[in-house]
Amino acid sequence: MTYAEFYRRSVDEPEAFWGEQARLIDWHTPPQRILDNDKAPFTRWFVGGTTNLCHNAIDRHLKDRPNQAALIHVSTETGREETYTFAQLHDQVQRAGAAIRSLGVSRGDRVLIYMPMVPEAIVAMLACARIGAIHSVVFGGFASVSLASRIEDASPKLIVSADAGSRGGKVVPYKPLLDEAIRLSSHKPDAVLMVDRGLASMDHVAGRDHDWKALTERHAGVQVPCEWLDATDISYTIYTSGTTGKPKGVQRDVGGYAVALAASMKHIFQCKAGQTYFCTSDIGWVVGHCYIVYGPLIAGMATIVYEGLPIRPDAGIWWQLVEKYKVNVMFSAPTAVRVLKKYDEAFLKKYDLSSLQSLFLAGEPLDEPTARWIHDALGVPIIDNYWQTETGWPLMTIANGVEKKASKFGSPGLPMYGWKVKLVHETTGEELTKPNEKGVVVVESPTPPGFMQTVWRDDARFVKTYWQTIPGKTLYSTFDWGIRDEDGYYYILGRTDDVINVAGHRLGTREIEESISSHKAVAEVAVVGVADNVKGQVAMAFAVLRDPAAYPDAAARLKLEGEIMKVVDGQLGAVARPARVRFVTLLPKTRSGKLLRRAIQAVCEGRDPGDLTTIEDPSTLQQIKEQVQAG
Ligand code: AMP
Repeated sequence: MTYAEFYRRSVDEPEAFWGEQARLIDWHTPPQRILDNDKAPFTRWFVGGTTNLCHNAIDRHLKDRPNQAALIHVSTETGREETYTFAQLHDQVQRAGAAIRSLGVSRGDRVLIYMPMVPEAIVAMLACARIGAIHSVVFGGFASVSLASRIEDASPKLIVSADAGSRGGKVVPYKPLLDEAIRLSSHKPDAVLMVDRGLASMDHVAGRDHDWKALTERHAGVQVPCEWLDATDISYTIYTSGTTGKPKGVQRDVGGYAVALAASMKHIFQCKAGQTYFCTSDIGWVVGHCYIVYGPLIAGMATIVYEGLPIRPDAGIWWQLVEKYKVNVMFSAPTAVRVLKKYDEAFLKKYDLSSLQSLFLAGEPLDEPTARWIHDALGVPIIDNYWQTETGWPLMTIANGVEKKASKFGSPGLPMYGWKVKLVHETTGEELTKPNEKGVVVVESPTPPGFMQTVWRDDARFVKTYWQTIPGKTLYSTFDWGIRDEDGYYYILGRTDDVINVAGHRLGTREIEESISSHKAVAEVAVVGVADNVKGQVAMAFAVLRDPAAYPDAAARLKLEGEIMKVVDGQLGAVARPARVRFVTLLPKTRSGKLLRRAIQAVCEGRDPGDLTTIEDPSTLQQIKEQVQAG
């Protein structure tokens, strides 16, 4: 079958198509109704079916491959390196499930996981899935204010965390950030379960804090059967940034998600049971949920969980792991490749990479020179794939498992099966059908399995944020600009909203602005994303001071800049830290007081700021220009 036929069938006959894909996973009760779109855009898949993610990830493989590697953990931060077979992982997850239950967690309760890349983090996720608890993993690089807003929204009964993470050999204690976040949040968890890695000392809160090792050991040998969940039950929530400061809890189902991942492993990633998958993301991001944890395990593969940098002990570490563990499929981000590109290609050539089939890259635009460099160095297909936390799996890429297609550098590829992708005009909402017209990338309902169910506890926000921004139409907006060429390949041109993408990490500029504004010296601030050679984009801040006279010279301002960066580090985490904070006397705004972020961004990137007829005071942009030119 050609990919075009495969795609057609997926959108013309979604029930038949997805009914077939559903056979890729185990069901306890088969679904009665494949697709229910009666309450669009709240699409429900596999209604009446019952299943369990953990069963599909582990138990299903116990018969055929109990002694095969399931989870391979490598930490170049601590030197820990260990492999768990499916049988061992099964044992660990049952212990953890029992331990989590003993802390009062049951089906439907939330468990927030704030962890570095250690096996216990994945075990905790799978244990939640097993007992039907909803996990909400928060990226370990976030700090107390980001964490507090997620605790507040998810209202977890339990938080699972660790004493510390480690980055580039530097220990980052988590416990003080967690304690501060719990203090800031009006919701208090009943219990906190701490993995003690022996990296940092911890204050113990009596009656609330428990030790992972002691508690899981106490439950050694306990059988914890999988809870059979409805396909439409909630598996997890994951927070993501948008235009407003408040992060959104993207909510995902059980059955649709399992089927979507299983199908992607076959059609997109071309994986087979028994192979090894290495995704270099973090479990705090959607890519980590899908392609470190659930996707590879559902497919019966070993998954590598790596803690560390790509360049430590040297820039060959990932390729060394490819050789050692015979990695078949790799998944990373363009930023990581741009980092590696700065080092000698010899680091890649040193190892036997013959096991490697392909490298998938996602999370941010993949520029052509980067794609070419890694392609030439590895000699395997480099496959760009475009998706979002909301979509749950690639919306655009190429499905070589269906039909081999050439990639075009600079393009993530074609719309994937199940996704009715369109381009529309931003203000009229009209569909753009001619090649090479720029429009907003949208998706028509019904959305395929794996797509978000709603915004956690806020159906109205789901509809309003995503489905009501295109004039006159009910279409899901990706908030990305795109064009499509004559062959139907798409090109992504950046966000239509105030979201920026730093090293593949999605950040809301408003969140960073709120954090900077909390510094007492700052009256007002604008944050924009500015193009960067390595990270894709970096955050750049322009602040107006309450009392500029208090910071009269360059030295005082430099000190203040450092202080402001510390505030962001402490509240949001170093990922959100702006590259520079510059000081101006006034910000460029329209006469009605709207911040002209795009004009600021254009000036920072040395581009023409475009139509400025509505600007209140043109000298404000001049100030920004001078600041940028001054370096
Ligand atoms: P996140 O939800 O954190 O995965 O971020 C999703 C956003 O990252 C998208 O809306 C795009 O702006 C960007 N993005 C992800 N993958 C790609 C890609 N392959 N090419 C271009 N942009 C991408």
